[in-house]
Amino acid sequence: MVRSMSTREVEHLLIGGGLACATCAQSLREGGATGEIVLVGREPDQPYNRPECSKGYLRGEESREEPLVQPKEFWSGQKVELLTRTSVTALDLDRRTAKLSDKQEIRFDKALLATGANVRRLNVAGCELEQIHYLRTLGNADAIRAGVADAERVVLIGGSYIGCEVAASLTMMGKQATIVMQEDLTLERGFGKTAGRFFQGLLESHGVTIHGADGLERFEGDGRVGKVVTTNGLELAADAVVIGAGVTPDVALAKRAGLQIGERGGVLCSSRLETSVRGVFAAGDIAEYDSPIHGTHVRIEHWDVAFNHGKTAAANMLGGDVPHEVVPYFYSVLADWGELEYVGPAYKWDEEMVRGSYDEANFTTWYLKGGCVVAALTFGRPDDLDTARRLIVERPMLGDAQRQKLTNPEADLATL
Ligand SMILES: Cc1cc2nc3c(=O)[nH]c(=O)nc-3n(C[C@H](O)[C@H](O)[C@H](O)COP(=O)(O)OP(=O)(O)OC[C@H]3O[C@@H](n4cnc5c(N)ncnc54)[C@H](O)[C@@H]3O)c2cc1C
Repeated sequence: MVRSMSTREVEHLLIGGGLACATCAQSLREGGATGEIVLVGREPDQPYNRPECSKGYLRGEESREEPLVQPKEFWSGQKVELLTRTSVTALDLDRRTAKLSDKQEIRFDKALLATGANVRRLNVAGCELEQIHYLRTLGNADAIRAGVADAERVVLIGGSYIGCEVAASLTMMGKQATIVMQEDLTLERGFGKTAGRFFQGLLESHGVTIHGADGLERFEGDGRVGKVVTTNGLELAADAVVIGAGVTPDVALAKRAGLQIGERGGVLCSSRLETSVRGVFAAGDIAEYDSPIHGTHVRIEHWDVAFNHGKTAAANMLGGDVPHEVVPYFYSVLADWGELEYVGPAYKWDEEMVRGSYDEANFTTWYLKGGCVVAALTFGRPDDLDTARRLIVERPMLGDAQRQKLTNPEADLATL
């Protein structure tokens, strides 16, 4: 028997259930939206801050409620209807309707797609063994915490921020963490070799073992993983494994709906975050937007970008004409050993200048291209990022006097 569906009408349909959708819902109400707002997400939890999954929540220091973007009762107070454990299975952009896994059909006036990203899975021999984990959700963090409870040695595959943060958290939990990665030095892909060497030294000084310029060959074990074999022939004993091998934007729904996909694999948007279909917006990890700051399309997987995208999308869904002009910001926390902060991003740069000292673990690295600052990384000097944001937006070609100031830890950068 085919059940007929009645179509429900809403003003704003937000598809994704993560930070970008949550911020958009809140900003819509703050901006005066009076119509119905429905937020659909396939996870069991209300919108939460994913960064906690590799930090306090992973270590068991936070309750399941602490990472929530807003307390549970907030959404009903705002008259935002949250549909958790629900997927949007199809979008018809001509009829402006969405089909949901709970069999509802919703017709919308405006929609936001913020379906986030999926982890890259590594299909090597032995990948089906127990205690091989990926990390994207609170549920994944629960599984890792439970899985390492009786583990001594944990191998991390990947030397980017997930691998580094998890290695740091596990070390704090008393585990012996070992990183295997393709790059020579941890975090070097984003921040270069000098900063990479610093972060690697920091991890090693706390007991993390690191094998660079290597790869994953296979896993071995009897039901449960027992060994990681690398392409260089290392055989590393492992009671558990966490893989942090990057993510790909989840554009499956957008593709099926016929939305344009960009060079960076995301949903192509204008500087207003509007997709190729009027009144349909994209935000967060999937949005490949025309950035007025960078003069090109960018797609960035950072917490702060998802947050600010949510605000810009809401302003434009309410009829504004607001370009997304926030300089992307990223942070990463390595246990209680320190926090790095970064604005940019610089996909390429030809010069690095340092203010402060790597040896003293107190520095800002300025990344320059053609004599202009395009990004900055700081460890311990967060105030420098205000100057970095200004320089990234204004793009002045730096003269000698400015270069001297930027590299002098005592100089007042406000007068630059
Ligand atoms: C472990 C971890 C640690 C991180 N740490 C940091 C950090 O320290 N600093 C930082 O800047 N960034 C960090 N990030 C990145 C940051 O969390 C993301 O960039 C951000 O969460 C992206 O938000 P989003 O709303 O675009 O997507 P997401 O948060 O991924 O939300 C998208 C949601 O949409 C759901 N969905 C997908 N398709 C459908 C569908 N068809 N129907 C319904 N729902 C659907 C997904 O299941 C998901 O719940 C971290 C990420 C992870 C995983």
